Amino acid sequence: MSFADLGLSPKLLEAIAAAGYENPTPIQEEAIPPAIKGHDVLGIAQTGTGKTASFTLPMIERLSKGRAKARMPRSLVLAPTRELAAQVAENFEKYGVNHKLSMALLIGGVSFGDQDAKLTRGVDVLIATPGRLLDHFERGRLLLTGIEVMVVDEADRMLDMGFIPDIEKIFKLTPMTRQTLFFSATMPPEIQRITDQFLHKPVRVEVSKPATTADTITQRIVRVPTKDDKMKRNALRELLRQDGVKNGIIFCNRKSTVDVVAKSLQKHGFNARPIHGDLAQAFRTETLDKFRSDEVQFLVASDVAARGLDIPAVSHVFNYDVPIHSDDYVHRIGRTGRAGLKGAAMMLVTPADGKHYDAILKTIGAEEIEALDFSKFFEENPVRESRPRGGKDAKESRGRRSSSRRDNRKSEPKPENDAAAEAEKPAENDAKSAEDDASQKASQRGETRAPSRRRKNGEARSPRRREEAVVGLGDHVPAFLMREVAR
Ligand code: AMP
Repeated sequence: MSFADLGLSPKLLEAIAAAGYENPTPIQEEAIPPAIKGHDVLGIAQTGTGKTASFTLPMIERLSKGRAKARMPRSLVLAPTRELAAQVAENFEKYGVNHKLSMALLIGGVSFGDQDAKLTRGVDVLIATPGRLLDHFERGRLLLTGIEVMVVDEADRMLDMGFIPDIEKIFKLTPMTRQTLFFSATMPPEIQRITDQFLHKPVRVEVSKPATTADTITQRIVRVPTKDDKMKRNALRELLRQDGVKNGIIFCNRKSTVDVVAKSLQKHGFNARPIHGDLAQAFRTETLDKFRSDEVQFLVASDVAARGLDIPAVSHVFNYDVPIHSDDYVHRIGRTGRAGLKGAAMMLVTPADGKHYDAILKTIGAEEIEALDFSKFFEENPVRESRPRGGKDAKESRGRRSSSRRDNRKSEPKPENDAAAEAEKPAENDAKSAEDDASQKASQRGETRAPSRRRKNGEARSPRRREEAVVGLGDHVPAFLMREVAR
């Protein structure tokens, strides 16, 4: 099947050809025709399948007729992270080169005033993260009653980040007559409930089972004898030095670990940069650009920051931490082996990771992932095991910290920053991970929100938020002081 068979206009076909695409991907083949006819679409597809074009192209087709009104966008795309939203915007620019569509991006790190000015003039396409959109709405800056098409992208990630109440609220602010294009890699019951409630007789399109891993990815693990972080970092460096490692993404479960690992790698002469939700948007954008242009070889990333990023040629994915949610394993390793290219995924597995590792095996339907033989390496590079004293989690963390201090004095020179970052590292358990997610969510949603409201929603305050607190007022800052001043 060719793009011409999908019912797209010559202007769009030209833009697609200019993008270098020859044939539609399976999700595009199945989703574009019903979307062009105006049906709701429920797309079950992961990133890397070409799903962005499968909603962008029909939207452009539809929006090519009609004009935008002030403060009443004609279409809305909701994405869970700033990066993903920015990527959707790039797609609109690429496929919409032959159309005169106006677009606004409501995400953190993008000037509020500029976007507001665009909204005032009227936009065809509004791309937003849910929290930022509601901020603008609550300030009376936009109306959603003119929405003709609404897209929810990566809905399962929205669920992980606690955005579902916001999504429901936004759905209710848009007209019943809208067309809805809804994408999710998995369909947990909460997502099913939303689609049952807000989609009208959707055409269901499923391109691959959520838990499948590409055949083009070679998966390996390294069994690390202890959960000592220094030993893990040693093993990671050894993996990065392997033949055939052109570039890679190193995934960690927590933002604090991302910082520690990135600094440690830099200290050991690796060309690595961190990316996570608490880093400044300008730094994140610069890091991604440099990674795409091969100026940076390794990206050390958290799941949320890396989700959906369009980075075409990654030779390797490294799981520094075993992901807590087995679906994340599938998403992480999906960053390599794309579009039929060969890729490799390596994961460090410590004795403490048994439960989560087993869950991954179950998810990918494997009995075991082949282990690389690192026994000689660990023999030659011993690290004294940290020994937790007393009760479980909090003390585990204390044990680790003291071990890291001990490590500082040992043979390999320990990066100065490692120790500092490590000392701040909280207990490594699932609850902390959830808190970390919540903190990412808070920093994502809370770009302009008052702290009282965030807490009311049960969200954790991110460290960045605390840094931004008004000096002298402690936690009791009146909401109006935290509002950005309209320009
Ligand atoms: P997505 O799943 O939307 O993130 O897309 C993944 C990658 O596939 C992006 O780099 C797209 O530019 C690319 N892509 C999308 N559609 C096609 C196509 N029909 N042929 C080749 N590449 C495509």
